[in-house]
Amino acid sequence: MLLCECCGERTPDVSTRVGLRTIDFAGHRTINNFSGPLCNTCWSKSRVFGTREHRWLLEHIEGAAIADQLGKHSSGLERHRARLR
Ligand SMILES: [Zn+2]
Repeated sequence: MLLCECCGERTPDVSTRVGLRTIDFAGHRTINNFSGPLCNTCWSKSRVFGTREHRWLLEHIEGAAIADQLGKHSSGLERHRARLR
């Protein structure tokens, strides 16, 4: 059985959800998505704006997006440094 990443419960209804998107606080659909194990409860609640699960999902997606940007930024910086050498 998988562990739900949101509530941390290990229940039979946990399955890997792929490409979950949500609405951010500006009301836009997120560009990035989340893939990972979630139980049915968290999965359905994450689609309802304002729930704890929605917030969790959004933070996960946004967090991943920020990490992505930082990754790109640092690799760009590395290339820049390499050119200076
Ligand atoms: Zn859950």
